[in-house]
Amino acid sequence: MKFGPYFSLMTALISTPAFAQAIYPLDRAEILTGSRFDLKVEFPKSFTKDSVKVTVNGVEASKALGTSANFIANEDGANASSLLLKNIELKKAGEYKVEASWPGGAKSVTWTAFETGPRKAKNVILFIGDGLSVAHRTAARMLSKGIVEGRYGGELAIDDMPHMALVSTSGSDAIVTDSANAMSAYATGHKTCVNAMGVYCSRAKDTLAHPRVETIAELVKRKGNMAVGVVTNSEIEDATPAGMVAHTRRRSDFNDIVKMFSDVKPDIIMGGGSPNFLPKSTPGSKRLDEDNYIEKFKADGYAFVSTASEMRKAFVEKKQKVLGLFNTGNVDGAYDLKFGKGTTDRFPDQPDLVEQTKLAIDSLSQNKNGFVLMVESARIDKYAHSLDWERSVFDTILLDKAVKVAKDFAEKRKDTLVIVVPDHAHMVGIVGTYDDDLPGQTPREKLGVYDKSKFPKYPVGADGYPERIDMSRRPAFLFGSYPDHCFDARPHFDGEFVPAVAGAQKGSFVANEQACTPGSVRVTGNLPFDANTGVHAADDVILTAMGPGSEAFRGRIDNTKVFRVMTTALGLGRK
Ligand SMILES: [Zn+2]
Repeated sequence: MKFGPYFSLMTALISTPAFAQAIYPLDRAEILTGSRFDLKVEFPKSFTKDSVKVTVNGVEASKALGTSANFIANEDGANASSLLLKNIELKKAGEYKVEASWPGGAKSVTWTAFETGPRKAKNVILFIGDGLSVAHRTAARMLSKGIVEGRYGGELAIDDMPHMALVSTSGSDAIVTDSANAMSAYATGHKTCVNAMGVYCSRAKDTLAHPRVETIAELVKRKGNMAVGVVTNSEIEDATPAGMVAHTRRRSDFNDIVKMFSDVKPDIIMGGGSPNFLPKSTPGSKRLDEDNYIEKFKADGYAFVSTASEMRKAFVEKKQKVLGLFNTGNVDGAYDLKFGKGTTDRFPDQPDLVEQTKLAIDSLSQNKNGFVLMVESARIDKYAHSLDWERSVFDTILLDKAVKVAKDFAEKRKDTLVIVVPDHAHMVGIVGTYDDDLPGQTPREKLGVYDKSKFPKYPVGADGYPERIDMSRRPAFLFGSYPDHCFDARPHFDGEFVPAVAGAQKGSFVANEQACTPGSVRVTGNLPFDANTGVHAADDVILTAMGPGSEAFRGRIDNTKVFRVMTTALGLGRK
């Protein structure tokens, strides 16, 4: 998600006091027994401590939960009181009714605490295809396996798994999620709101002061002394990788998120985004202080690597803890890495996710207590935002190749749960083919639908990617949400497509004139005027899985179920 305009809007919303009463965790929360979380009750006005009452299953809250309660008489100077119980745990499975009352009102919520039984899996590998939608899978299969007479030349690794489910991705505040609250649902089992992770969205003004829920990385470190890996090709502070460790209402708290990585200490941390690790005085730094987190990680025993060669060396030397930052921004996607575009002139030795997955699994599997590894193919989403389908599909093939590595590991051992799941959808679909041999000049004249949508034939290299994308017949992979832009139905060879640029009116975006070449058509945007890219969709997404515990994935599930299945397989909530 690109959040220039949205971000300022969200900041404005956060800072507006909301006086409605609320109880966090929210009604219908499903909570793993023994996991830690904060209970916060927000009263609608300022009250005295003695005039309010909070009970859990009829017993006064601090007594029922065995911890002290902090009464905040006048929260953030907003003339409203709150009660906060931090770091609580539910010991027994079952229903918990939390009732709050104050002069003139009352509210209650009910939670379900679940236990897990004995451990079934030693390891969990969670793949996130960011923004991965059904059309991405279809196009990836078409481009990498080929299709003749209606039959594909092979299966994708992400499809060829024994268990499948439809996952609903909405957060607690809106039908359309972003990557922060989507990842938070997988990592904590709690739904939260757009831009938040590891917290419920309360009325606290400080983005770091919202009621917390424990992440799976924290849980497996605390309860099982397991190894944890976080591998992505986005900036490591970006929402999906950050969701493994972070507790913030605002996903753009990047410097705080770096500290949270340092607090949780995943054994392997690899991605882009080095500027938030470097002290302010270092040119290019994005920190506001002189803290040097690369030096801090080294002092904590990490090998620091910034190129693929250094990464290989660190793993050959059996370094147990590795911090890899390979780009100042996002690591280049598969198309740009293969064809030497993007930022490869400045960063000529970036690794790809497939090799990183292999090295991470080899290293993490040395831990006798097992491991949890999250691998994200992040740029499926980023290129879908920029309406650049070829790059998005190359990164779907990248994900598929990384999943193949994990499947090969898991098939031999039978002790590893492998899950592949998108965090949300994009509005994409394949409606036919663009065929240069059809008469005419414009995309509409070149579009073959139904019987004219003949099979594309991409030459595929040994690496599984097409060797070229300038084919005369190409899938008409279309985007359903877009800003004003010019469209020529052709690949963007030299760099990621930029559909829209800032307009004359502050906060508005207009078509990028550089793309308005002969043969292109002007498309009037269908999104709010402050959107400069496509947006996420609320459509359900497809999860596939294999290994112990994966049989629980079937039918339609909420995204929070992924946490439940992972923690159940690992036996983290057993009596
Ligand atoms: Zn996105």
